Amino acid sequence: MAELFNENESYQVTARKWRPRIFEDVTSQEFITKTLRNSIKNERISHAYLFCGPRGVGKTTVARLLAMSLNCLNRKPNGEPCNECVSCKEIINDNRNHPDVFEIDGASNRNIEDVRELKEKVKYGPIRSKFKIFIIDEVHMLTGASFNALLKTLEEPPPYVVFIFATTSPEKVPMTILGRCQKFDFKRLTIDEIRSRLKHIAASEKVKIDEESLFFISKKGDGSMRDAQGLFDISASYCDNNITFEKLKSFFNLAESDVYFRITDLIKAKDGNQLLNYYDELMNKGYDMQTFLDGLTGHFRNLLVSGSTGLADLILESESVKQNYIEYIGRFSQIEIINSLKLILQTEYTFKYSSNQRTLIEALLVELIKFTDTRDITQILKELQDLRSETGGETHKVTSPAKNISSAIKNADINVSYDTIQPPKSDNKDTVMPFESSLRQPDAGQFIDISTASGDLNSHWLSIKDQIKTERKWVYSIIKDTTFEQDDKKNYLIRVDDSTFELVDGYKDYLSGKISKYFGQSLSVNLIKSSEFVTSYSNSDSIIPSENESDNYDKLRSILIRDFNAKEIK
Ligand SMILES: [Zn+2]
Repeated sequence: MAELFNENESYQVTARKWRPRIFEDVTSQEFITKTLRNSIKNERISHAYLFCGPRGVGKTTVARLLAMSLNCLNRKPNGEPCNECVSCKEIINDNRNHPDVFEIDGASNRNIEDVRELKEKVKYGPIRSKFKIFIIDEVHMLTGASFNALLKTLEEPPPYVVFIFATTSPEKVPMTILGRCQKFDFKRLTIDEIRSRLKHIAASEKVKIDEESLFFISKKGDGSMRDAQGLFDISASYCDNNITFEKLKSFFNLAESDVYFRITDLIKAKDGNQLLNYYDELMNKGYDMQTFLDGLTGHFRNLLVSGSTGLADLILESESVKQNYIEYIGRFSQIEIINSLKLILQTEYTFKYSSNQRTLIEALLVELIKFTDTRDITQILKELQDLRSETGGETHKVTSPAKNISSAIKNADINVSYDTIQPPKSDNKDTVMPFESSLRQPDAGQFIDISTASGDLNSHWLSIKDQIKTERKWVYSIIKDTTFEQDDKKNYLIRVDDSTFELVDGYKDYLSGKISKYFGQSLSVNLIKSSEFVTSYSNSDSIIPSENESDNYDKLRSILIRDFNAKEIK
């Protein structure tokens, strides 16, 4: 690489300099190169080839090799081009002067006039070589009229003409054209394939690179050799031909896996505030939201795999990152990981269609804290059962069983919405969005008396929503269409559209806090789906045990779900 960056010589990027000059050197498309070589050897040449596949996997490279081999003046017996004759040299030199090989970019020559010009060229035989070869890149970009014009040539091609079409979107090529081509599907390159090629290039160019960096760049190439080689060039230049992962980290701002481990650390710590701030930081650094979601999915997938197998064999990461996954085993339960993955995949699905993608991801992160805090309801019930036997079945006589249940669940360390049972505790820092603990004591005249405001709750709700808008924009965006009301039992309800109910539910404590602060008294507020009628909802219902055990179970179950944020795990 030293000479690559020598200012006295013309700079050649790695992708170009290392473009394979014989079929043998093409990374990973063995099936295709072998088939092509055999057909050349046996002189079974097709008049039209279609090379399909993602970008940077070698379509144009193989097209050029095919052109080289077909027109080579000293072709090797194994079908490889000689690289030495005038025809080979001109193609290696980007076809600048080759009279019989034409490279056309379909995107910029897509109109009927361009195709007519091409047809003119087709009319006359090759000047110097055996074949007249047209390589058309991104052929799917041609217009319908152009395809039609081309089709006539393809139907009756002169014997000396060979078309090589390349495309990333074969589905956009008309069937009439497809039917006349010999089609080859190029596959994405694996990380290992890119890695071994880069390793070879680095050694030849005398660029030092550590294994970690080699892996990072190969992975970032995302199946494309060209992209990986581009990153390799930038990295070599930045690191002055001694690429170390430490330097790369600062160059790319961060090592990707570190980002997601940090995210899961914050989820585990239930630190919603830091989590959202960290996400904000990533966005400010120019992190792409789709990339973030993909990365998060991959991370939880890795957690699932390592957690299930106890091994890191199925994880496509460098050895040191694999080790991190092994060390992470046990920090989340399998059910937590599965539930989180489901939620992330759901968000991925809605993400594309959402006009508020950033809010969607923020809501996802906060939800993940709740999700990884969910206990299996049967486990909670079992603990309640144990508690009951500890107290010798005394629960029947307890006048306020709610207290027992709440302390049982508190002992079980789950996230409880205390506000439905007892006043919020100011030291309760564990909840996702802490209840406004700075609840001020009402000064005379400072607060609206809610008992006289009941006829006009919604205009007050508008004022509260305005405050929320300035304080937490993303919360506002999901509650802006909600209404505030009171049922016949004097319970306060926020009516939420069914589709956003789950999202808003994550902010119930926060909303209760805002409302309580506004009216200057601790109020318990519940959510109701807009599809539901107002039912008499009461805190005092239902826990008094009935004689019938299954009735008790059902009541307890619905209360756990309603008031304790429990989720049933099937
Ligand atoms: Zn040659």
